[in-house]
Amino acid sequence: MTRMWGDQPYFGLDASFDPDWLLTEAQKELRAELIELCRTTLRPNAVEADKKNFYPRANVDALASLRLLGLIVPKQFGGRGENTVGAVMVAETIARYGCPSTALIYMMHTVAVAGLCYRAKGNAAIENLLSRLDDEALIGTASYTDPETGGHFWYPKMSGAKRTEAGWHVQKKAAWTTSSGYADWYISQTTSPDFAGDYSDLSVFLFMKDEVNGAPGKWEAMGMHGNQSGPVEIDTVVPFDRIVGWPGDGAASNDEAIDPLAMLMYAGSYNGLGLACIDVAKSHVTRKAHVQYARRVADYPTIQDSFGRAVMEGQASRLYAYALAKALDDATENGSWEIYYKDPKAMPRAKFAVWAFQAKFLSTRFSYEVSDKMLATCGGRGYMADLGLERLVRDSKAGWIMGPSNEITAQLIGKWALLGPDAVDWWNQRVDEPVMMNEIGKLDAEGKRRLIEKLQAGLMPQAAE
Ligand SMILES: Cc1cc2nc3c(=O)[nH]c(=O)nc-3n(C[C@H](O)[C@H](O)[C@H](O)COP(=O)(O)OP(=O)(O)OC[C@H]3O[C@@H](n4cnc5c(N)ncnc54)[C@H](O)[C@@H]3O)c2cc1C
Repeated sequence: MTRMWGDQPYFGLDASFDPDWLLTEAQKELRAELIELCRTTLRPNAVEADKKNFYPRANVDALASLRLLGLIVPKQFGGRGENTVGAVMVAETIARYGCPSTALIYMMHTVAVAGLCYRAKGNAAIENLLSRLDDEALIGTASYTDPETGGHFWYPKMSGAKRTEAGWHVQKKAAWTTSSGYADWYISQTTSPDFAGDYSDLSVFLFMKDEVNGAPGKWEAMGMHGNQSGPVEIDTVVPFDRIVGWPGDGAASNDEAIDPLAMLMYAGSYNGLGLACIDVAKSHVTRKAHVQYARRVADYPTIQDSFGRAVMEGQASRLYAYALAKALDDATENGSWEIYYKDPKAMPRAKFAVWAFQAKFLSTRFSYEVSDKMLATCGGRGYMADLGLERLVRDSKAGWIMGPSNEITAQLIGKWALLGPDAVDWWNQRVDEPVMMNEIGKLDAEGKRRLIEKLQAGLMPQAAE
């Protein structure tokens, strides 16, 4: 079936390239509605937000009009109760047909929503917020990355929380946060109230917009202009029900809610962005002709080869993401968050961690590389803003960098593959004894004596306790 773009056939890859057997009829209908919204609203706003460097709030409102802010929220809290396959499809569709910056805004929102859904039941503040997401178009974000630990977002060094009589006193510095200063609510992770040096002892909190200091309007970047990522500072006392879960629940929240959703929403968004590049480039090379040969650019075998490779790279990454999303759905009663209300210790999503990180790598590499290849196929026109490819090329680079960066991810997967999951050592807790002994062996007697003195000095306060 030909996909329509208004009253014209869609200018990009034909619908027969979509793995539609993975979607339900309802999901296909939702996609059709969303594509139309992209055509009329999201895409025109994407062009403007990119040019003028503004936050595409109108796109957020448009997503709320389709009740997409509560996409994965359980029906008992007023959401659509959509499964993971559906969430990946929505992210892909927004990025491909609409606006990559909005896709990233939506991704961070959905990740934050996942964190809330995981521990919603019985928490009045969370239940209330989830029930209002679409009616009031309340966009959220996940403020995790720490200024001192970079893309290792699970390592919040510049943070802390204390129990006071009035509630939780939370302090946090975040280096980058999508929708910084524009979001209506934030979730953020800190070390736990009783923190004693173990960085896996984390807690998650919910904040409303007037409780954080964002940095609206400060975002100047190569691409993703609408994303408006910026630093966030928090130093506030919030009511007791703003802790998401309980003190020390942060690592489980990462493993079960934040990471699986984040990696798959990356996958949806960046697969969509890569496809958007192919779509725009197709529209150009099938029209541009070289009269001397009576040939279009698309008729050159080398161009066909480029497109063939690009399409196959994209399909491999898409099928990977959808297959993983389906595996999560199969393991969670079709993407349910209610399973944790019956059994708070259930960890069915975390089992797929090693698969989830690969989805992030594959998709962001696809968009990073395919954007350059498509630029090359379009020649000089590709370089010019009016074709629309140049904006996508700039937008396509952020995913590679975003946490965990693809360097970190590749090393993580390699280490896991070679040495097993424990070797990953998320919070830098395992002592590498062979390396330590090797380094100590380099010291002469005086050096060893100084080291012993240093170690003893460090031990003294503990010994006195
Ligand atoms: C558009 C955009 C939106 C963002 N939105 C959010 C958000 O909403 N919330 C949020 O919490 N964060 C967000 N971030 C932050 C993002 O996820 C990363 O954490 C951040 O971009 C990492 O940047 P950094 O400068 O700290 O890099 P660093 O982590 O300092 O990395 C610098 C370089 O070192 C490499 N490197 C780092 N560690 C290793 C290692 N162990 N082995 C090998 N190489 C390594 C990296 O791959 C990279 O090449 C956003 C970033 C961008 C660009």
